[in-house]
Amino acid sequence: MELLKKKIREEGMVLSDSVLKVDSFINHGVDPQLMDAIGEEFAGRFGGQGITKVLTIESSGIAPGLMAALKLRVPLIFARKRQSLTQSEGLITSKVYSFTKREENTISISGKYIQRGDKVLIIDDFLANGQAAFGLIDLVEKAGADIAGIGIVIEKSFQDGGAILRQKGFRVESLAEIESLEAGRIAFKEDQASELNRS
Ligand code: 5GP
Repeated sequence: MELLKKKIREEGMVLSDSVLKVDSFINHGVDPQLMDAIGEEFAGRFGGQGITKVLTIESSGIAPGLMAALKLRVPLIFARKRQSLTQSEGLITSKVYSFTKREENTISISGKYIQRGDKVLIIDDFLANGQAAFGLIDLVEKAGADIAGIGIVIEKSFQDGGAILRQKGFRVESLAEIESLEAGRIAFKEDQASELNRS
C-alpha cells in the first residue's frame, strides 16, 4: 500500500535492527486519513467472505481494527491486556509475550462478543514473531469461532511470525512488508525485488 509506505519512509524511525518507531501516525499519534485508507484496503482484501467480527488487541490495534470494521460493516472487539472490574463473566483468556515491552500479558475477551458461528478477521498494527496474533487466534478458537484471516498494517518479514502463520494455513495480508531495518535503513520487500530487477 503506497500511501502507507510513503508515510513509513517519511516518518518512521529505526530504533534498532529489529524495531521501527511509528509513533507519529500509528502508536501514539494517529493519522485518521491514513487509518481510513487502511480500513478500506483491509475491507477490499477481506470483503465478501462473510466476516462477522473484527478482533484486535489494545491499544494500537484499535485504530486500524475500527476502520476495517467500519468498512466491513461489522462490530469491532478488542482484547484487553488488563482485566477490568466490569469484565468478569465468561472470560476467554490467553497468554501473550510482548515483543516491544518484553513482558507477558494475559489477554481476554468476553465470550459474549465472539461465539460459535462467527467468522473473525484479526487485525494488528505490527507482525513480528507472531505472539500477539497467536494469542488472538487462541481466543477465537476457544470461543469456537472461525478465522477468516489476519490483516497486519506493518509486517517485519525478517522475523518469523508471518512465515509460521502462513505455514499453518492462515491467510495473512500485510499492507507494508519490511525486509530489513539494518544500518538504520528501512528496506521494503518490493524495493529489494525491484533493485534486483534493475541490476
Ligand atoms: P509479535 O507479537 O508479532 O512478536 O509482535 C507484534 C506486537 O508487538 C504488535 O502488537 C506491536 O504492538 C508490537 N511490535 C512488534 N514489533 C514492533 C515494532 O518494530 N515497532 C512497534 N512500534 N511495535 C512493534
